[in-house]
Amino acid sequence: MTVIGDLLIRARRAVTGDAAQPEQPLAVGVTGGRVVAVEPLAGSRLAGRDTLELGEEVVLLPGLVDSHVHVCEPGHTEWEGFASATRAAAAGGVTTLVDMPLDSVPATVSADALAAKRRAADGQCHVDVGFWGGVIPGNTPELEPLARAGVAGFKCFLADSGAPDFPPVDVGQLAAALGVLAGLGRPLLVHAESARAVAPARAYAGRGYAGYLASHPRGLENLAVAEVIEAARVTGGHAHIVHLSSSDALPMIASAKREGVRLTAETCPHYLSLTAEEIGDGETAYKCAPPIREAANRELLWAGLQDRVLAMVVSDHSPCTVPMKAPDTGDFGLAWGGISSLQLGLPLTWTQARRRGIGLAQVAAWMSAAPARLAGLTAKGRIAAGYDADFCVLAPEESFVVDPGQLHHRHPATTPYAGRRLHGVVRLSLLRGQAVDPGRPRGKLLRRTQ
Ligand SMILES: [Zn+2]
Repeated sequence: MTVIGDLLIRARRAVTGDAAQPEQPLAVGVTGGRVVAVEPLAGSRLAGRDTLELGEEVVLLPGLVDSHVHVCEPGHTEWEGFASATRAAAAGGVTTLVDMPLDSVPATVSADALAAKRRAADGQCHVDVGFWGGVIPGNTPELEPLARAGVAGFKCFLADSGAPDFPPVDVGQLAAALGVLAGLGRPLLVHAESARAVAPARAYAGRGYAGYLASHPRGLENLAVAEVIEAARVTGGHAHIVHLSSSDALPMIASAKREGVRLTAETCPHYLSLTAEEIGDGETAYKCAPPIREAANRELLWAGLQDRVLAMVVSDHSPCTVPMKAPDTGDFGLAWGGISSLQLGLPLTWTQARRRGIGLAQVAAWMSAAPARLAGLTAKGRIAAGYDADFCVLAPEESFVVDPGQLHHRHPATTPYAGRRLHGVVRLSLLRGQAVDPGRPRGKLLRRTQ
């Protein structure tokens, strides 16, 4: 059968977002911004008004879905904003991002706040954008209105978030929220560092990375993860651990999943590519919480991904201004904790994956399909009929040196990756069948409906 569509992509190499489907030659037909047909390239009779012919040097991937991005607008637009963040996303092959509920003013803890955020984002996004709502003490009456207004799910902290308008919940409040959200069919994303031992972490000051690392021991995460598991077990709610750094917690997560607890977990490119051993004193660009740990920990996180204990890799793009990183003093106590890596998530992860013999089919499952599933984005994260025609065209064998001048987030000088050689050059991002055009923002604001 011949399908006449708007666009035919002829890819000699493609991955679909399904880890079980190896890289293969595919013909992909697109009409009205959606994939309408996918078939083996050999013998394909699909046709399109336009044809995108991809050579052997590039791989067609589903557009990446980054479910952990702090856009900070409105309120802290001097840190980051929808225009710059989504431009960085598109340059990095990310065609959908989901914005975190804190670091903006207002924080997304009510339906009114969500409306304010959507107004701020409207008309300036280069990729599609969804929103997480926030769970804070006392906002239980807002959870259902937020869910009805289309948030993908909710986020909470178990320790001080650093944002005064986004206080942490205690274990009882966590369980109560999970119970409510189970009824609403939405996941609860949890920043799993325990509040019980965080006081020394807040008190830490100095240029030494070892001191900073010691102030955020693995035990903080381990304790919190155990609490999240028990809350999910008791309530039947879906808990998702964000940015797992402590590999100690992997056996607990694996065991809970085996027992049927509704639990998922993510990690981030910085935990998978950087190590504590290489971070010099005063190098506050590397500060994040939980912190980057030792090389042995990094290897165990890779094993956790391969064992499917960790389901996904997302950026935790957490931007700030240059002075907020305290470059003059190099004081880890003063510096903002967060790394901006939206644009580099794919090359960072791929550079490490290929060294370990992991293919792009698996990387696409971690960076496209799994985060889309978490956020309930049923039309995103795969190359398959019925899905949005969002793609990333990657030259995987090509390498480049990270030049902050090429990064599109608001304060590229804050990157810890300057000067690093990475594999995987993003040649093109397509959003609903059309190349992302920096002069014409076409991103939609997404609402979760199921
Ligand atoms: Zn975050």
